[in-house]
Amino acid sequence: MNSIFENLQRLDENIAQICRRCGRKREDVLLIGVTKTRTPQEMNTAISWGITDIGENKVQEIMDKYDQVDPVRWHMIGHLQTNKVKYIIDKVCLIHSVDSVKLAEEINKRAGEKGITAQILIQINAAGEESKFGIDKEGFENLLESITGSCEHIKVKGLMTIAPYDPDPENVRVYFRQVKEYFDQYKEIKNSRMDFEHLSMGMSGDYEVAIEEGATMVRIGSAIFGPRNYNI
Ligand SMILES: *Cc1c(COP(=O)(O)O)cnc(C)c1O
Repeated sequence: MNSIFENLQRLDENIAQICRRCGRKREDVLLIGVTKTRTPQEMNTAISWGITDIGENKVQEIMDKYDQVDPVRWHMIGHLQTNKVKYIIDKVCLIHSVDSVKLAEEINKRAGEKGITAQILIQINAAGEESKFGIDKEGFENLLESITGSCEHIKVKGLMTIAPYDPDPENVRVYFRQVKEYFDQYKEIKNSRMDFEHLSMGMSGDYEVAIEEGATMVRIGSAIFGPRNYNI
């Protein structure tokens, strides 16, 4: 067995165990394999194991690899510039990183042109870190209002957050809990523009805590593919 298979096997068992321990169903947590910097070959190995969803953080990488990768659902998880929305709007099943009215309006326009409804998550910057994208609670409420008011080609499917890096994941539990609270506040409201179903939080270093706090999607790269080497 190669190491990507072994890592996936271990990760899958781990996720199942965490779910059992906190009384959640395994099928309620989707494992998204994060494939930035990985080759199409590595990606196809993960897909042959059974990965159904992959996440990329750069438009360019989606464009470069899209035709070389076996059928799979693509997620845009990184910061998205408005001028690049048009390249991926009909390639990805979910955009996790919507954090401004301007970006939402561009997504709405491009989705309309393609005759599709764009499924998006709003990215919350729970820790208020200046170096991170995402918006605070007030910005989130304004954004949601403006999408439900005027973006007929968007459906808001939930929230995403990236916790600050901390060697002890216990220290970021508070941020996951906060975002889960926002999620719960809005998940009862269902209409044509919003239907909160997904809570995307947790990466290689903190997915255990994220699942305990209610994540429905975890975005995991290095625990599957090994450490990233950005120089290649
Ligand atoms: C890279 C990345 C991940 C995965 O990070 P790992 O630590 O490798 O698991 C998750 N989410 C986003 C937005 C990323 O850019």
